[in-house]
Amino acid sequence: SQSDLAVQLTAPNGRVYSQPIGLFINNEWVASSKGDKIASINPTDESEIVSVHAAEPEDIDKAVNAARAALKGPWRDISSSERGDLMFKLSQLVEQNKELLATIETWDNGKPYSVAVNEDLAEVTNTLKYYAGWADKIHGQTIETTAAKLAYTIREPIGVCAQIIPWNYPLAMAAWKLGPALATGNTIILKPAEQTPLSILVFANLIKEAGFPPGVVNIVNGHGRVAGAALAQHLGVDKIAFTGSTGTAREIMKMAAVNLKNITLETGGKSPLLVFDDADLEQAVKWSHLGIFSNMGQICTATSRILVQEGIYDKFVEAFKKQTLETSKIGDPFSDETYQGPQVTKAQYERVLSYIETGKSEGATLAMGGEAYKNVGNGRGFFISPTIFTNVKSDMRVFREEVFGPFVVIASFKDEAEAVQKANDTTYGLGSAVFTKDIVKAHRIARNIEAGMVWINSSQDCDYRIPFGGVKQSGIGRELGEAGLDAYSNKKAVHVNLGNWL
Ligand code: NAD
Repeated sequence: SQSDLAVQLTAPNGRVYSQPIGLFINNEWVASSKGDKIASINPTDESEIVSVHAAEPEDIDKAVNAARAALKGPWRDISSSERGDLMFKLSQLVEQNKELLATIETWDNGKPYSVAVNEDLAEVTNTLKYYAGWADKIHGQTIETTAAKLAYTIREPIGVCAQIIPWNYPLAMAAWKLGPALATGNTIILKPAEQTPLSILVFANLIKEAGFPPGVVNIVNGHGRVAGAALAQHLGVDKIAFTGSTGTAREIMKMAAVNLKNITLETGGKSPLLVFDDADLEQAVKWSHLGIFSNMGQICTATSRILVQEGIYDKFVEAFKKQTLETSKIGDPFSDETYQGPQVTKAQYERVLSYIETGKSEGATLAMGGEAYKNVGNGRGFFISPTIFTNVKSDMRVFREEVFGPFVVIASFKDEAEAVQKANDTTYGLGSAVFTKDIVKAHRIARNIEAGMVWINSSQDCDYRIPFGGVKQSGIGRELGEAGLDAYSNKKAVHVNLGNWL
């Protein structure tokens, strides 16, 4: 019954609320067909929060059918302005419920509450509002050819879209995917990550409350290899959008080949941050700290490879260590003092610890951290001391592979040519940052660097109005901004013969 599909919970900050645990299909809560479940673990103390239903292939079929019916039915008949109104209403409901949503995000993911409420939730409302504004401003073109012909284009939704998202920004990643897809008139099956299944289910209730017709947005938790794979292979799904690891993206591309699905992928990175000897050192240090140690280093664009010009290398390293000691306060994510909470799961925690061993065995210098941190609460939880390796060479694995934690490598370069060569010596191409006061050099490097985004004198700058995405093995396509709409609409060309030949 419906009452079995929600449980009363009390969060660590005392907040009592009703947590849905079912699958959200057709605006209703349903149980998974075989009763498969996912247990959600609090990464701060390793306790189990609750188990939620996990979708099986049969459940994915149901969700796809619901999305298809909505696409052909009520959603198609709604005007673009009404679509925008619904999205705006949803953004307002998120704003009204932001403390609750941020509480769940912090409990389930481990990110500091102040960050969840002030940054992640702001990102969700801003993105939904921004794309609500686009809904009635999407139009085709007429294209001049000859007097005997009228040619124009129609923008059409791609159709039923599957969206598979990661655990590092659970609600924000959902908003990035839902915003442009809804504005352009698609219907959606969204699969959250197993590690963070909870906040999105409360968000699902807001979708219903905002007044979206049944089937427009379906939210199904599930295991990647079961529910995720079922979506990627499904013949009833027209598009798949994914954010996560490059390895999984490769699997998804293969599965999506079955019906040549439209694809958008945002994957991994090992983003470089270059510090030239003419940079404002204090600024460079602050941004490079934020660029790798915010969100516990679990950021796809994290500037995890710092490259510093030889003459200021030692000075930079000393200042960077000092900044890290002073700023990276590890603790309970519900405490206002905390900068760094736990890693999201035991698997991620162990992954980071194993890269610490790799760095040591490869001969890099461990300049700070390099161990688990056990001084929070009951001594359990997935906390890791911010870790800095120096004297790192380009052929080391810790220079080349994405760690996805509070783990940074600092290498040096001689001149601009070597800086760009080392920056580009990677299979990835997501973010990149340059610190210099020389604006000509900065813009030249911005052109020469192989990345989807370049920050000049900052890091992790992100804005819902500006396209986001990668080159090389960091992804395909763009999210956010006007570019985000292109990922979710087709252009149909109509040729009208105005002449009387043939
Ligand atoms: P993942 O890529 O395996 O998982 C991301 C999403 O894909 C989840 O929703 C998962 O259920 C789904 N998925 C997994 N296998 C699938 C499959 N075979 N078919 C369809 N969907 C599938 O990432 P992970 O295992 O959680 O993390 C591992 C590494 O991925 C991290 O250490 C990090 O390097 C990277 N990562 C990157 C991002 C990012 O923002 N780009 C986010 C999370 C993780």
